[in-house]
Amino acid sequence: MKIAVLGTGYVGLSTGVCLSEIGHQVTCIDIDDQKISRLQQGISPIYEPGLETLLVKNTGAGRLIFTTSHKDGVEGAEIIIIAVGTPQRPDGGADLSYLEQAAKDISGHIEKGTIVVIKSTVPVGTNEYIKKIIEEKCNKEVMMVSNPEFLRQGSAIHDTMNADRIIIGFENKEAAEKVQEMYRPLQVPVIFTGFRSSEMIKYASNAFLATKISFINEIANLCEAVGADVEDVAKGMGKDKRIGEAFLQAGIGYGGSCFPKDVKALLHTAGRYGVNFSMLKETISINDFQKEVLVKKAIKRFGELKGKKIGILGLPFKPETDDMREAPSINIAQSLTNLGAEVVAYDPVGTEQAKKIIGDTIQYVSSVFDAVLGADALFIVTEWKEFTQLDLASLMKKMKYPIIFDGRNCLEEDRIRQCEKIEYYPIGKQSIL
Ligand code: NAD
Repeated sequence: MKIAVLGTGYVGLSTGVCLSEIGHQVTCIDIDDQKISRLQQGISPIYEPGLETLLVKNTGAGRLIFTTSHKDGVEGAEIIIIAVGTPQRPDGGADLSYLEQAAKDISGHIEKGTIVVIKSTVPVGTNEYIKKIIEEKCNKEVMMVSNPEFLRQGSAIHDTMNADRIIIGFENKEAAEKVQEMYRPLQVPVIFTGFRSSEMIKYASNAFLATKISFINEIANLCEAVGADVEDVAKGMGKDKRIGEAFLQAGIGYGGSCFPKDVKALLHTAGRYGVNFSMLKETISINDFQKEVLVKKAIKRFGELKGKKIGILGLPFKPETDDMREAPSINIAQSLTNLGAEVVAYDPVGTEQAKKIIGDTIQYVSSVFDAVLGADALFIVTEWKEFTQLDLASLMKKMKYPIIFDGRNCLEEDRIRQCEKIEYYPIGKQSIL
């Protein structure tokens, strides 16, 4: 099939690359000419495992093309997939301005029978709204399909190729079947529904996962108070099939480009319809609290942090990505510097993105060694694999004090216990002193 994808961010690019890999002829369009020129050279603008290999392979095979021209990209396409951003507005609702613009950009090039798919995460009612915008502009009926995306950054290619389900929200059966046909080689279960339920499935899924994280974080805080171990508790809970093991890792809160904004957008939708979804308010406030727990633990340990040198390991909101959007490291760095601490941070891939958001209030270094050198304490903020394998005994000798606050419970306790004099403060478990 001939497919056009608007937006070459995490979702659009992964989708475009994977659809070309399964044999479709794909043109990816973006308004960012720098992104497009890098992509034309086979360079991925984002860090995502496996993406660049498939990018080079499929551009080489002539199945994947990149352009900034909506006309060139969209003309002749049987399916147009919109995967532009839907960031948070100041009032918590979803900002649909990129989507509205994308609708205008394609409307001049829609032909009879062209299917428009909205893959971006959009509030209930948006597919109907965008359909109207396009139809008013192009003066013909448009076949819309709502097809929200569930990939995770850090495993976007794997998740696209091995999705748990594909949601197809539709009004027009022919359009729904064609989109199902597009995905057929992936052999993923498809759920057909209406626009509104499809839109709601995406928000309900993310809000549920975010709530699961906040729930286990509250359990973690209670475990610390009562002398229980949250990892054992999560293991014991997770073996129950009704609960499941995923998303029961206690830590320093969720971040990223989706959970924070999607929970707020769902709350905003509830408000608009007069529904008091108070549980979501708690999910958000627990998460805000949790982003500060490492700093609180450090204050408890040191009294005050003024003049203390804190090494931070890990900056993005999770490993295997360089995405810094809503990463807990932002709050942590800000709180530490506000309290007068000197912060030295290391991340294997996220430093460039972090500089754009956190700025020069902290120092960025290029090795774990430089981050711990002379530090009063070490904060582990992102659980990169390389941090779990550290030679702790020799690293601790480089620190002023061998004190670790592990926001991801990613260090093995046996290895900690082998180090002399170490102080280790995990989340939801007893400290090792
Ligand atoms: P992103 O910000 O990384 O990328 C969006 C891209 O769209 C940018 O490159 C931008 O330049 C481009 N763009 C904007 N307007 C355009 C236009 N008119 N024409 C062509 N390109 C245009 O966004 P993302 O993280 O890929 O997310 C996209 C959507 O998917 C959002 O609604 C998001 O909530 C949802 N989503 C994201 C993830 C994720 O893990 N990032 C997962 C599932 C769903």
